[in-house]
Amino acid sequence: MAFRKQNGLKPLEKRAWLSSPTMHGPELQYMTEAFESNWMSTVGENIGVVESLITQRIGCGYAVALCSGTAALHLAVKLAGVKSGNRVFVSDMTFSATANAIMYEGGEPVFIDADRDTWNMDPAALERAFELYPAVKTVVIANLYGTPGKMTELCEIAHRHGAVVIEDAAESLGATYEGRQTGTFGDIAAISFNGNKIITGSCGGALLTNSKEAAHRARKWSTQAREDAAWYQHEELGYNYRMSNVVAGVVRGQLPYLEEHMAQKRAIYERYREGLRGLPVTMNPYEAAKAEPNFWLSCLLIDEKAMCPQERGDLEARYEGQSGKSCPTEIIEALARYNAEARPIWKPMHLQPFFRDKAFVSAGPGEDVGADIFRRGLCLPSDNKLTADRQERIMEIVRACFA
Ligand SMILES: *Cc1c(COP(=O)(O)O)cnc(C)c1O
Repeated sequence: MAFRKQNGLKPLEKRAWLSSPTMHGPELQYMTEAFESNWMSTVGENIGVVESLITQRIGCGYAVALCSGTAALHLAVKLAGVKSGNRVFVSDMTFSATANAIMYEGGEPVFIDADRDTWNMDPAALERAFELYPAVKTVVIANLYGTPGKMTELCEIAHRHGAVVIEDAAESLGATYEGRQTGTFGDIAAISFNGNKIITGSCGGALLTNSKEAAHRARKWSTQAREDAAWYQHEELGYNYRMSNVVAGVVRGQLPYLEEHMAQKRAIYERYREGLRGLPVTMNPYEAAKAEPNFWLSCLLIDEKAMCPQERGDLEARYEGQSGKSCPTEIIEALARYNAEARPIWKPMHLQPFFRDKAFVSAGPGEDVGADIFRRGLCLPSDNKLTADRQERIMEIVRACFA
């Protein structure tokens, strides 16, 4: 029991979160303006301002403010023309919302394995998927934990096969690849202002595109697909997906702080990288020559030789502590005992019971990078407000796990 040998460590007085909202003040001002002007609705000044701030910041043609990133993904899948029974290639290592959006339209997700350089969709696996299913016309690519995938290569492959790219940039707002913002690689993209993202509206999201027509259709669908008539006139299926003017007030107040949040997250990542040097671990990787992640979450991957035995069922995990070794379960449990929130790597979609009958394509037969990263990896407390000395105490706990 490696960890229990340790003593002298004290729990943190205040909980260290994985990633929690960080408010600054202007958010309240814009929310109050919505209240006082009585635009407590899905119409109002904040919404328009948020859309124009996003297009300026990201450099995309149009942004449609919606109630969530998931709603943006759903409308993106609809815009891509996915119909019942159509196969759609999608990142396997992602949050379930990415794949659910395909299911809402009756599509059949085909999960594409991750690469080891970015933990995002592997171009080699995507090539192989097109060999297996040449008729596929939609590819959904997520940028996990704020790290850009190999977007240039992935988009080239998809477009060469005549497929539309949907980019799930929910976690990567502000990150760039080859000097370009994530969210501009996909023909359509989704971003999110969920409470745990790098900036937040408490909830909310946006659909990004350079197509005026696509933006217009998404906006119309999001407000119940009302036609331009004096009465409620409908020619197609609509949704109640528009962003509220109150939420938009929070997003409007937060957007100017994206830079600051990114700098804080990068500092956290770098302190972990330096501070954990010497342990048998590596940080979540990125292509240093091409990518500037937003460092939303800092993650660890434990070397194979330093893994103690760990077993995971569908709902619970066990491990056997061994000296000099550890595992995600031990570290997460140890951190929880000391009042810090860590989390397993997002469990890959092809390992989820809900998606068990869906196809999974990796770069080579029998390969499964996602399952390996899930088994050996974890997300560390990465909250903006994590101070250097609190982070040092978190690293002491991690070190103690390997004692
Ligand atoms: C958060 C997230 C979403 C969903 O965004 P919501 O705003 O919570 O609906 C989609 N994809 C990924 C990768 C996410 O992390």
